[in-house]
Amino acid sequence: MKIVSTIAEVRAQVKAWKKEGKRVGFVPTMGYLHEGHESLIKRAVAENDVAVVSIFVNPMQFGPTEDLESYPRDLEADAKLCEAAGAKLIFHPEPEEMYKDGFCSFVDMSGLTNALCGLSRPVHFRGVCTVVSKLFNIVMPDRAYFGEKDAQQLAVIKRMVTDLNMDIEIVGCPIIREADGLAKSSRNTYLSEESRKQAVILSKAIFMGKKMIEDGERNPETVKKAMCELISTMPLATIDYVEIVDRNTMKNVDLIQGEILCAIAVNIGGEARLIDNFHLSV
Ligand code: AMP
Repeated sequence: MKIVSTIAEVRAQVKAWKKEGKRVGFVPTMGYLHEGHESLIKRAVAENDVAVVSIFVNPMQFGPTEDLESYPRDLEADAKLCEAAGAKLIFHPEPEEMYKDGFCSFVDMSGLTNALCGLSRPVHFRGVCTVVSKLFNIVMPDRAYFGEKDAQQLAVIKRMVTDLNMDIEIVGCPIIREADGLAKSSRNTYLSEESRKQAVILSKAIFMGKKMIEDGERNPETVKKAMCELISTMPLATIDYVEIVDRNTMKNVDLIQGEILCAIAVNIGGEARLIDNFHLSV
């Protein structure tokens, strides 16, 4: 497995692979990799001839008061995980390699991004769409793998690829959880011992909401209220949102039917803003 930091090196390697007729799978990440990322990489390895992982903490997708500086980083451990999972190339650029002097082009979206995380993180999806477009143009993958953990991001990327005619198959992969249910996240490392205990309330609310709908509840307000009440039993939890939306458009629904997404964001102890979700076809 190679680790490279320049766009030219990625292009040269991918060009050589394509000449041999190899199909390229791609997993974009911000690093500090865990079993969630690993599941995406293993799937990319299994379904393609070669797998590329990018590790880039993209400054453009962080707001001015967010955790860009403190975001955890550990390239050595990440490289070990990638190699063991079977990846062939890590692209680990510096911000200056991705954003040259005078950079002023962006990929932006309306509608889908004006809901859920887009409301409390106004610059986030413009940064995500711009960097993912750039990474797609650099790596030129046949398939790209994204986690359902970031359900809105997955919907946004699928829409972007359709709208901009990018010839890349987007593959969504299930959420990987800790033993107690908490969705794995690089940001879980921000949690103190007490906050970590209380963070389990996100997945508890997710499992409860899912069960209510599976048991026949069709009123989104009833499900959301019950989930909010459960989350509020934890004194360190502050709800950002609990929403039930159409899985493709991210628009609120009046009735639970069709492809729905229930997504939540909760701040725990002022230490970490965590997200979780489930989707159902009703
Ligand atoms: P990140 O490094 O947080 O930008 O995540 C990189 C990719 O890994 C994204 O597509 C995430 O949705 C995915 N991912 C992160 N955590 C998980 C998880 N617990 N289960 C599945 N996928 C995940």
